[in-house]
Amino acid sequence: MWRSRNTLTKIVATLGKASSDAATIRKLVEAGASVFRLNFSHGSLDDHLQVLRNVRQVEAELGYPIGVLGDLSGPKIRVGQVIEGGVHVEAGQDVVFQREPLVATGPRFSSTYLGLVSDVATGQKLLINDGAIRMLVVELKPDEIVCRVTTGGLITSGKGINLPNTQVKLPCVTEKDYVCLEWAIRNELDFIAMSFVREASDVELLHRRILEMMKGSGRRSLPIIAKIERPEALHNIDAILDAAEVIMVARGDLGVEMDLAEVPAIQKRLVDAAQRRGKPCIVATQMLETMISNASPTRAEASDVANAILDGADAVMLSGETAVGAYPVLAVDTMSRIAAATEEYVRSTPHRPPPMTTERMKGHWTAAIAHGAWMIAQDVRAKVIVAATESGLTALHLSQNNFRIPIVIGSDDLSTLRRITVLNGVTPVAITMPPDLDQFTELFDELLLSRGWVNRGEPVVILAGHPSGRVGSTNSLAVHYVGDPSTGYRGRAGQR
Ligand code: PEP
Repeated sequence: MWRSRNTLTKIVATLGKASSDAATIRKLVEAGASVFRLNFSHGSLDDHLQVLRNVRQVEAELGYPIGVLGDLSGPKIRVGQVIEGGVHVEAGQDVVFQREPLVATGPRFSSTYLGLVSDVATGQKLLINDGAIRMLVVELKPDEIVCRVTTGGLITSGKGINLPNTQVKLPCVTEKDYVCLEWAIRNELDFIAMSFVREASDVELLHRRILEMMKGSGRRSLPIIAKIERPEALHNIDAILDAAEVIMVARGDLGVEMDLAEVPAIQKRLVDAAQRRGKPCIVATQMLETMISNASPTRAEASDVANAILDGADAVMLSGETAVGAYPVLAVDTMSRIAAATEEYVRSTPHRPPPMTTERMKGHWTAAIAHGAWMIAQDVRAKVIVAATESGLTALHLSQNNFRIPIVIGSDDLSTLRRITVLNGVTPVAITMPPDLDQFTELFDELLLSRGWVNRGEPVVILAGHPSGRVGSTNSLAVHYVGDPSTGYRGRAGQR
């Protein structure tokens, strides 16, 4: 066994100064983290490179494929420079934001976005520091705007600005993002997260740039995780889901850009939309926030993690808890314990048929076989589902079926294995792809027994492709009783 707990729900852990050394990363994996996030909003690319090397070292030591995602900052607008100690503003006070940069010493500020003063209209909201400081635009002038403070507070350099009612004309991908993207491709990251996605064309643009940057490298495209945090993205969610490989419910900015009261319902709608389109969904931010400084979460936080799982999230994410918190390993362990207990509860409830996904509607054969496996697994009370994958597609189709039992996926392509680490229920394992179906059953028998995942004689459902080693070749299914050579592909009988 590699882990103390192997949950179906995947845990994404953000790495930062509290967790970047190899020893801590190893403990995070052992506690249940499957994917690590490098947040390009903080730290230098040199810092990230060292952290990435540590992750790959741990991956090699444990023999367990680990996904790494690079999170692009996107067009986040920030307050310009402010005098040391900051400037306090009070409710009712008027403050000015000017186009030209300055070091603010009083109620006149600048921002990192020169176009801010021309994009906004009167009556629109300007929020600072995740909405802690709030103001309304009351007057427009040629090169500055006047805002009336409704909730005061201390404004310091670099604090984030959100403009929830404004159509900001900033490009979705900034120059800095392109530098980080190029770095992510060069260093073979497994996912790239795109912040402040507004519509499908944002994701398509990034896909095109990725393909251009990868030209001649022989590598496949880099999967995009679209972070849903802008109100426009909610209206365009189906098209975004078609364009992106994964979505993230980025509740931090979403809770500032929208009314916070709407976030729980939005989360449910987004998870549901992702399930219908057959795309994985990560629920993120403040899941165990208290654990940044406390050794245990609040009851409400424990319920929040459980509810995200009950909603159907493929993965849950930790941010500050693992990046800068005092208890990074305990936070992952706590999340994993909550996931295990919630999955136990889910198994005791009636098993609903998996949602009809876009791929099944289109009659995709691997999607159909994966769906058929769901029925058969229930009827024979299978302990695990087993398959091989070339591109990761079979793993994706299987994961969409909500088996409630582990899906063990073998591949000889490490980059494919790393990309399926985010899929619910999927345990990726490195194998040498067998040349024929007979040896396929034998190989998995040995693997399942040696890892202690099933006992001899227990039923498993195997999906395979013939000829093997070709993308999209998964075209058959067998029931196998582990260790019994007369079943599965070796016996070709599939029955007892
Ligand atoms: C979020 O806003 O919830 C999020 C995940 O993005 P970031 O951490 O970049 O703010």
